[in-house]
Amino acid sequence: MSELENSGYKGRALRLLRDADCQVGDIIRITSRGKTYEGILIPRGELGDATNIIIKMKSGYNIGIGASEGVNVEKVGVGTKPTFASSPLPKQNSALPHVIIMSTGGTIASRVDYRTGAVRSAISASDLYGVVPELSEIARVDTEIVFSIYSENLTPKNWKELAQKVAEHINQGVDGIVIAHGTDTMGYTSAALSFALQNLPVPVILVGAQRSSDRPSSDAATNLIGAVKAAGEAPFAEVGLAMHETVSDSAIVVHRGVKVRKCHTSRRDTFKSINGFPIAKVLNQKITMQNSDYKRRDTSKQLVLKPDFCEKVALVKFYPGMDPAVIDFYVNQGFKGVLLEGSGLGHVSMFCFEAIKNAIAKGVVIALASQCIWGRVNMNVYDTGRDLLSLGVVPLDDMFPETGLVKLMWALGQTSDPEEAKQLLKTNITGEFVSRTLPQEKTVYGAQ
Ligand code: GLU
Repeated sequence: MSELENSGYKGRALRLLRDADCQVGDIIRITSRGKTYEGILIPRGELGDATNIIIKMKSGYNIGIGASEGVNVEKVGVGTKPTFASSPLPKQNSALPHVIIMSTGGTIASRVDYRTGAVRSAISASDLYGVVPELSEIARVDTEIVFSIYSENLTPKNWKELAQKVAEHINQGVDGIVIAHGTDTMGYTSAALSFALQNLPVPVILVGAQRSSDRPSSDAATNLIGAVKAAGEAPFAEVGLAMHETVSDSAIVVHRGVKVRKCHTSRRDTFKSINGFPIAKVLNQKITMQNSDYKRRDTSKQLVLKPDFCEKVALVKFYPGMDPAVIDFYVNQGFKGVLLEGSGLGHVSMFCFEAIKNAIAKGVVIALASQCIWGRVNMNVYDTGRDLLSLGVVPLDDMFPETGLVKLMWALGQTSDPEEAKQLLKTNITGEFVSRTLPQEKTVYGAQ
């Protein structure tokens, strides 16, 4: 395939460009319906309208001109192919806190791919630093690309590698870590790191974006500035996740890593603290702690690294009419744990009891969280809950299913003994459950 075809042009548009010997980056003149347009030929969206030729005008605007009958194309100059150049690093101020930005991929680390019109994981952590020069006034930043992966493609092996790399930086004495991450599964990674990195001396802050950093509407810069500020200076030392507090581009909140969930497909304030409150807020470069219940920054603390996760753990959502063979399947496949996402206060139908009993008899740990998301499971209210408890199902208090799943993977990564794993599940490792539920009106979506 020629470079031109590779640039997404098809049909008459491709023919016109080929006949005029044009390549992407050339300066071309298009005459259409008595009007003349001149600009640089840029690649076009493969998934868009096949009849348009896209040029970047002198004004900086891109326009599409329909390659209809009577349109004339001529090459007026040979240009250079557009590439993404890394921005130069701003000057470092040695008096500022030392923060490492580790990049894993996702929208925050991506640019629009003009070939497909899609967003690609493309820019490095140092580009992030380059495109947000304000960071140089907040911290002395060093960067590392750990992965360039959309977060839906990350696995517990990546969590382990990431935790190990974070630990290396912390052991070298940095003031804080920021991890740029795709938002889709950022809540899972924040929970995983919360269990894997215990007794943290400094903060570890995950950050993402809903719009890529080269778009004017991007939330990447504000999120990144908030995250770096918190990592470098906040008085807490926990795994947090920093994103917009509301849809407006002002405050950034840092949620506790085990209590945060992506709740909206596209809004900038997609992340919400569930059954808890954000730890801190960053507004106009000022950090305000949101409550007094947090682990303190203290560089004399010795980090404890426990990065192993068991991948033979499944999340099974209960629904009316669910075939218990789903549970049998995982048992037969040698899974070590199943997190049941039960209904209401913590229930699954009585038709699943036999399969659960059999799984537990075979040493599979069965834990239960509620698909309600908000609130806590209470399996003592109805007989269904009591029956499940007597079968040996472990209730996960006010943990929502995703954090419950990660905790079960982590617990079974620490021990292969189901009883020990159950004990770990019941132990509050890092604030993943609270013993008393907060007033409900303050914990529901949008009410914070
Ligand atoms: N699905 C991708 C990811 O989670 C892009 C979305 C995003 O970064 O928000 O990595």
